[in-house]
Amino acid sequence: MVASAFASPILPGATIGVFGSGQLGRMMALAAHALGYRTAVYSPERDSPAGQVADLEVAATYNDEDQIRDFVRRVEVVTFEFENVPARIAEIAQEEGVPVRPGGHVLHTAQQRSREKQFFADAGLPVPRFAHIANLTDLHAALTRIGTPAILKTAAFGYDGKGQARIDTPMQAESAWATIGSQPAVLEEFVAFDKELSVVVARGHDGAFAHYGAVENVHRQHILDLSIAPARVAPQVTAEAIELARAIVDKLGVVGVLCVEFFLTTGGRLLVNEMAPRPHNSGHWTIDAAVTSQFEQQVRAVCGLPLGATDQMRPAAMANLLGDLWAEGEPDWAAALAVPGVKLHLYGKRQPRPGRKMGHMTAVATDIAIAVANVQAARAALSCRPDSVRRAV
Ligand code: AMP
Repeated sequence: MVASAFASPILPGATIGVFGSGQLGRMMALAAHALGYRTAVYSPERDSPAGQVADLEVAATYNDEDQIRDFVRRVEVVTFEFENVPARIAEIAQEEGVPVRPGGHVLHTAQQRSREKQFFADAGLPVPRFAHIANLTDLHAALTRIGTPAILKTAAFGYDGKGQARIDTPMQAESAWATIGSQPAVLEEFVAFDKELSVVVARGHDGAFAHYGAVENVHRQHILDLSIAPARVAPQVTAEAIELARAIVDKLGVVGVLCVEFFLTTGGRLLVNEMAPRPHNSGHWTIDAAVTSQFEQQVRAVCGLPLGATDQMRPAAMANLLGDLWAEGEPDWAAALAVPGVKLHLYGKRQPRPGRKMGHMTAVATDIAIAVANVQAARAALSCRPDSVRRAV
């Protein structure tokens, strides 16, 4: 029998290879360095958020097999900061005998919305009613079955609500189909939800399981705006969400961190919306308020080390900082940092485009309501400077 690749952990001093070089890779690299690892990141970008803090930044396309092979030969383990990289990368790493965590099959499932939804449904998990759509005829038939309002989403993953069209009456079928580019899609019932929740979990190589409880998420224009931890929901809702997330990582045999997003319907039911097999925006609060951050947890899991304690030390609220905040000049960082319990995380991105995630702030407090109020006050303070001063910056 072949000995398990996990028989011995990958210890500090080794190099962790990360595909993708955005903020998730950056925070992963920072956590890896705290544990004494080296990091190498690979993406088409130069001077990327992760590349700025990694030991090695390789800028090449995700289809450049020679560069990928060269990269994986320089690292002891491969992981990903986002799932939309070609599955071929995992194959090349395997050919080179370098472990890939989570495995290529996890990427394959999470890379396509229709595949992911089918996986949830086949696993018996509660999901919104949906149908696979290949053409307009399918769409008309599905609208008859599912009804309106409904949402048409491209099967290939868009992010932050891109590639989606809401359909309020069957007459809008053709325009919605055109809006998403007439490509394979999923039609989904529109869910009347009370709240959106997420659960960040981790699974170790030995099947060990850890979770960070349920987090409440508020989206604005399809982009995460605010995360509140812990979620203000009944304990049995949290317990059920954790069990659903556990079922997903067990079924997929995930090694690493994974986030599951849910709708809590107005009728009190939990429905699985989607998953991300990596640290997630709704888990950023763990850096400042949990014993082990989701990024350290990812490092521990992919290196075959024991998972860390996930206890939440204090209530926390996280607010994203989008490029829009720069519209009037440099935000007033000092004013925001004067708010008690507020921690600032900036990602090193040079171009503050509208809708672009430039950083986040987390407020920790003794009470969740105070944490929410403080993080919102801090974000508001960023753009409260008198015009004359801000323009001069
Ligand atoms: P997604 O990319 O699928 O997570 O969609 C982004 C956001 O759009 C979600 O976080 C929800 O706020 C909203 N949304 C997506 N699907 C639905 C649905 N079936 N019903 C209601 N709102 C939805």
